[in-house]
Amino acid sequence: MKPWIFERQLDELKEELRGAGFRAFTARQVFQWLYHKNNQDPSTWSNIGKADREMIAELYECECRPVLESRGDDQGTRKFLIGLADGLQIEAVLIREKDHYTFCLSTQVGCALDCAFCATGSMGFRRNLSSGEILSQVLTLKKELGDYSGKLNLVLMGMGEPLLNYENLARVLRTISEPDGLNISPRHVTVSTAGILENLKKLEKDFPQVRIAFSLNAPDAILRAELMPLANRENLGDLLAHFREHKRRRRLTCEYVLLAGVNDSPAQARQLVRLLHGIPAKVNLIPYNENPALPFRRPDEATVEKFRAVLVRHGLTVITRWSKGQDIRSACGQLAVSTANS
Ligand code: SF4
Repeated sequence: MKPWIFERQLDELKEELRGAGFRAFTARQVFQWLYHKNNQDPSTWSNIGKADREMIAELYECECRPVLESRGDDQGTRKFLIGLADGLQIEAVLIREKDHYTFCLSTQVGCALDCAFCATGSMGFRRNLSSGEILSQVLTLKKELGDYSGKLNLVLMGMGEPLLNYENLARVLRTISEPDGLNISPRHVTVSTAGILENLKKLEKDFPQVRIAFSLNAPDAILRAELMPLANRENLGDLLAHFREHKRRRRLTCEYVLLAGVNDSPAQARQLVRLLHGIPAKVNLIPYNENPALPFRRPDEATVEKFRAVLVRHGLTVITRWSKGQDIRSACGQLAVSTANS
């Protein structure tokens, strides 16, 4: 089977093409077509000679993974079901914001962390996605935007825990920031994590500009461990100490999914204020997106507002995210593929 070209970083492609007798700059041209121009058909790459184009098509598979299904809502959110070469499926979501687009990308098929409120967690874990499988999602969503050349934000917040797929995540971050490729600055990338401290430190060292979103979801360690089993292995105190000590260029984002009657009382809001003391952070409050298969409910607006007001009164920056895409089950914690992956 031919190698898939999206698994190659630019320096690797250069090396391979040089070994196959190509000129030094051909790899850059190929990258420009694949990523910058989002064209994966070598026969149309007009600035590369015909013989070279044919040879590249012989050496590499150049197509993105296929979209099996896509569903949109009237606010500009569209969810894509993407088929992988081994028959598994993943989801990626395109979200229209006021002045830009956000791509919500998956990094694993399923997730091993089994958070009690999460549809992806309830699927179990199948495997990590390769760097090519993550990049292919970006290109698929970008195609949907036609010739749009404005701002894009990438959030690694879809299916899976990105920091448990660190090597491939790092490869993706290097390729997307490549000037001959997508040329997306790591400043426009957010990695959302439940808190894998060792790999978080690696990410902060290797890509200091990447934004971190920490999925907190509880105002104390005991409730957090009930909701997020990972918290039994990764100590919340150690994570918070790290967030206090580590100097970062951008404020940490703390994600807090509000679950009715579980973590949404004013007393718990006050606990949360104490927990975050000394951490330069903003809080994203995410009223839960209900899933019929899971027992949690979304709090009403008045409860959400009371919780928010406590945080604001204590000086925290708070954004309430009434997630987009609920109609098409693409909001936070709703991504799950149940058919081919089971
Ligand atoms: S919330 Fe995130 S970390 Fe937890 S199970 Fe879902 S995808 Fe995994």
